[in-house]
Amino acid sequence: MPAADGRVFEDVSPRDGRIVAEVARGSAEDIDLAVRAARRAFDDGAWASADPRERKRVLLRWAELIDEHAEELAQLESADAGHPITDARKVDVPNARNCIAWYAEAIDKVYGEIAPTGADALALIGREPLGVVGAVIPWNYPLIITAWKLAPALATGNSAVLKPAEQSPLTALALAELGAEAGLPDGVLNVVPGFGEEAGEPLGRHLLVDKIAFTGSVEVGRRFLTYAGESNGKAVSLELGGKSPHVVLADAGDLDDAAQAIGWGIFYNAGQTCHAGSRVVVERALAPALTERLLEFARDMVPGDPADAATTLGALVSEDHLAGVLGRVDRASGNGARLLVGGARVEPVPGGAYMQPTVLEALDPSDPIVQEEVFGPVLAIQQADDAEHAIALANGTGYGLAAAVWSSSITTAHQVARRLRAGTVWINTFDASSLTTPFGGVKDSGHGRDRSLHALDAYTHLKTTWVAL
Ligand code: NAP
Ligand code: MG
Repeated sequence: MPAADGRVFEDVSPRDGRIVAEVARGSAEDIDLAVRAARRAFDDGAWASADPRERKRVLLRWAELIDEHAEELAQLESADAGHPITDARKVDVPNARNCIAWYAEAIDKVYGEIAPTGADALALIGREPLGVVGAVIPWNYPLIITAWKLAPALATGNSAVLKPAEQSPLTALALAELGAEAGLPDGVLNVVPGFGEEAGEPLGRHLLVDKIAFTGSVEVGRRFLTYAGESNGKAVSLELGGKSPHVVLADAGDLDDAAQAIGWGIFYNAGQTCHAGSRVVVERALAPALTERLLEFARDMVPGDPADAATTLGALVSEDHLAGVLGRVDRASGNGARLLVGGARVEPVPGGAYMQPTVLEALDPSDPIVQEEVFGPVLAIQQADDAEHAIALANGTGYGLAAAVWSSSITTAHQVARRLRAGTVWINTFDASSLTTPFGGVKDSGHGRDRSLHALDAYTHLKTTWVAL
């Protein structure tokens, strides 16, 4: 559907800098139309008040259609966001599909509660959908994060208006088409592509939106709190960035295993992962041996054409983003960090936005390369005098999304894990996860959780019904 004013924007592939699509450029008017459609659909009750088994049936059909269109979705994600096609096939599409199926299966198994009261009363506590959910999505995992928001929002009976990132709108649009084909009633799911200032802000300020579910940067996340405060006080949940540390203690077990996990944890998706393990805090004695292994891992990982099934490191999302990441690496070197490997742009496909896996040793804990999210294939190594110092360095940024501890003592590992301020702590692994575990952060990394039954809290309110007996 065209934008109300007919405008479009060019969607560029970071693979080769070519335009892959002209996309409708949504404005406040389009957001208003979408929100009103969502509101009507919610108020009409065909979805919100449907038997949970009916919502489950439609959502499972949606998951089936995603399977049937898996290759097309994988190609779109790879062309639009630069993900290696093998990752898009094996990770992005199945994870999005599984998320929708998981919430579909969950929703007819969630019970309410009866509160403890005196004998003269019966107090029921049930969940009700919020109404219209606005979802605002970043470009790093367009399919997966879209599913993380939409699956629990729709399963619980809400209507939704989703604004994908301008860099990567294509798979959200394709998903919405499949949702309509699966039987989502008209108006229940609306996707409005466009820019943050033109479409995101009007969504955040709309008086008929009950909730914003946001994933993206700290700066923009905080703006949504302002939009809510200046409009109708809508609920806002924020999944923001991270600067996740690996705490590698002197008694860490197999360093080859640790280096593999650390390498994948930063270079997967070219480091454009909110919980990427972008820092290693290692006890000094182990630093040379671990660093040597990490450099080897980085040298072996060669950026390639995302369309080639053998590629493990694809393009960064855009030319602008690549320039920003390279600039941060240059400035870090200027601040006394030592560049150990990488740091340069490469062009496996002419015109594309690629860079080498990069490892730096950071000497100053206040260096921006330690403090700020880079969102690229850039790992900073910090050395610690002992475990206490390592914990202090690990906690020494504004972020609190995830962390890892490497130790052969399960006792020590748990003691350290307790003291790391993060929404997720991995012990002797990294990035292991499941739909059954909540995901989100503390401190500047935001609040609210995606995944697991706890995500239902973000899309429902608790209704008390008190009966006098
Ligand atoms: P971003 O700039 O914050 O954008 C996120 C979304 O907000 C996009 O749809 C964007 O629209 C929109 N937006 C931008 N400015 C806006 C404004 N003034 N008003 C309303 N909406 C606005 O983040 P990004 O660059 O896309 O993504 C990278 C960031 O996301 C990183 O910081 C990363 O850590 C974070 N992230 C966090 C998680 C997590 O779960 N914690 C997951 C993934 C990513 P346009 O871009 O289309 O203009
Ligand atoms: Mg794109």
